[in-house]
Amino acid sequence: METTNTAPNIRFLTISRPKYKAYTLQNFRLLPQIQKLSEEQKFAMEVVGHVFPFKTNNYVVEELINWDSVPNDPVFTLTFPQREMLTPPHFEKMAAVLRNSSSKHKIKEMANKIRWELNPHPAGQMEHNIPTLKGETLEGVQHKYKETVLFFPSQGQTCHAYCTFCFRWPQFVGISELKFAMRETECLIQYIRKHPEISDILFTGGDPLIMKTKTLATYIKALLEADLPCLQTIRIGTKALAFWPYKFSTDPDADELLALFTRVTQAGKHLAIMSHFTHPRELGTEAVQEAIFRIQETGAQIRTQSPVIAHINDQPEVWTEMWKEQVKLGCVPYYMFVMRNTGAQHYFGVPLVRAWKIFREAYRKVSGLSRTVRGPSMSTIPGKVQVLGVKEVKGERVFVLRFLQGRNPDWVMRPFFAKYDKKALWLDELKPAFGEKKFFFE
Ligand SMILES: *Cc1c(COP(=O)(O)O)cnc(C)c1O
Ligand code: SF4
Repeated sequence: METTNTAPNIRFLTISRPKYKAYTLQNFRLLPQIQKLSEEQKFAMEVVGHVFPFKTNNYVVEELINWDSVPNDPVFTLTFPQREMLTPPHFEKMAAVLRNSSSKHKIKEMANKIRWELNPHPAGQMEHNIPTLKGETLEGVQHKYKETVLFFPSQGQTCHAYCTFCFRWPQFVGISELKFAMRETECLIQYIRKHPEISDILFTGGDPLIMKTKTLATYIKALLEADLPCLQTIRIGTKALAFWPYKFSTDPDADELLALFTRVTQAGKHLAIMSHFTHPRELGTEAVQEAIFRIQETGAQIRTQSPVIAHINDQPEVWTEMWKEQVKLGCVPYYMFVMRNTGAQHYFGVPLVRAWKIFREAYRKVSGLSRTVRGPSMSTIPGKVQVLGVKEVKGERVFVLRFLQGRNPDWVMRPFFAKYDKKALWLDELKPAFGEKKFFFE
């Protein structure tokens, strides 16, 4: 099948073809909506934007943010730097350098100093999970859980906008030694052939759908043509539906992208679009609904996931609405994550007990069709750990936890217990319950 226009007709009348425009530290002050903010607010955004990556775009600004409720608007908080993302001492240090110096070198030096104090490499990704082939390490590939291999194509290591809370922030500011990135699919294919336990390949980034369709197609076609019978599923992890839905409708290579999707499903593979939605508003525009519809017409399935984030989506009603809306649009709720222990966790983090309460409150109010979602889940070094709840056992208040995925598959689905801690944000802050010295997986 040729990748010409085999995509479905656009359901809604699309009147315009929006052109992507990025807003960053360099030009955000030009936005009329930003000019209404005070000089102090703008300077604070600049201070934080020098430490953390900052990029948003015209779709987010014009269609998603409700400017009447700025600075408290959740989608504003999602892509614009917030003063409290830096602790007061870090903020003051960075602000002082910006006030007193125009030396690029000094600014960068301070930014990097602060960055290294923000636990830039939390989940041990640099030391673990990088596979080898014939003694050589496979850069751009991560293989942690038996069935699924992660693939970081080199041209997909950026996004249509940056989420303020993103755990991949070091990669976007260039302090990451792990420039996960791979150019050649040949090694990857050889690796998959050697590992018949791999049923899924997950394209990730950044956002792989930042790539031109032509580039993405070279990777995908190579996989299809390699004839890998054990490979059942191609997953694409993306936030393009939320941040740039025109990728699937009116962009010059949108039809070609949908034709590529069709090609995957017609080859008998499952195509799973793992779509990151953080707030229900991201599901409400005509542009996103049209994009979802067009993806579904290719036979691909959209699954949804997001972390629970303070100041953005830490209310049960937000999740109820999000899951209901997703199911209504034919998407499958998949994961609710916990904010990782990096970057601005002190501002965005939600304590585990609250994350569980939010999950439970929201889950209670949706039908079984939304209850495919699992969470709250922490992606830690040993595996994905789900908080099942809080319970009194033998007079001790404990967290009940379990692995949804484990570095060792034998750990999966075994309940275990940790001492209750109402402030704990992450697994490494938890202690085993009942006076035990270690968790069973340690
Ligand atoms: C989450 C994750 C996967 C995919 O796990 P599923 O539960 O199959 O969605 C694969 N690799 C890594 C490193 C992950 O964190
Ligand atoms: S789109 Fe995904 S990878 Fe990109 S900044 Fe947001 S969370 Fe991070």
